[in-house]
Amino acid sequence: ADIGSQKDRVVTEEEWLQKWEMGNIGFHKEQGHPLLQKYLDVLIKGSSGLRIFFPLCGKAVEMKWLADMGHEVVGVEVSEQALKEFFAEQGLPYCEEPVPEISGAKRLQSISGNISLYCCSIYDLSSSIVGKFDGVWDRGALVAVNPCDRQRYVSLMITLMEKNSSYLLVTVSYDPNKHKGPPFYVPESEIKSLFG
Ligand code: SAH
Repeated sequence: ADIGSQKDRVVTEEEWLQKWEMGNIGFHKEQGHPLLQKYLDVLIKGSSGLRIFFPLCGKAVEMKWLADMGHEVVGVEVSEQALKEFFAEQGLPYCEEPVPEISGAKRLQSISGNISLYCCSIYDLSSSIVGKFDGVWDRGALVAVNPCDRQRYVSLMITLMEKNSSYLLVTVSYDPNKHKGPPFYVPESEIKSLFG
């Protein structure tokens, strides 16, 4: 397939913030993603108290599911509005504090303590700030990353993973000549070369 038309396209942080302001968030799934339910065992492997990372988290309701199962959830999202809507819609009280290591960033944390959402760019994070994770739920994340940043994104994700962690990735297979999105087409061959 010819992905040339998408390769140089960029969605800026400003454009993402605007999407949230305009309520232009067709990607949000109020009922959660059926594939997480289907593959939950692959992620959790019968363990309890895992640390699960949600890159580019939006207000994904699955963060509450996993926290309710007793796992620790960490997310990152540039839109503060998205994170506030998450806590409001899930009925979770939270507190916020600056992140000393990242200028301008905030951490919104549920009062119960098991959901921590960083309001900043994912590229500002590192394992010294957020630690390492036993599992990753990547839905609407790699596919939302600008094609020119994919290698950087994947390299960072690899540094955030524990040795025996699981990474669930959702992509959409379609003809990039016929459709413009969702936001970017990531062919399977590229996923293999990015993650090795
Ligand atoms: N994973 C969520 C949201 C997918 S849409 C879901 O499944 O519903 C992609 C999200 O990434 C948007 O909310 C956008 O605001 C956010 N985003 C885009 N670039 C980002 C970046 N560099 N760092 C953190 N968040 C980013």
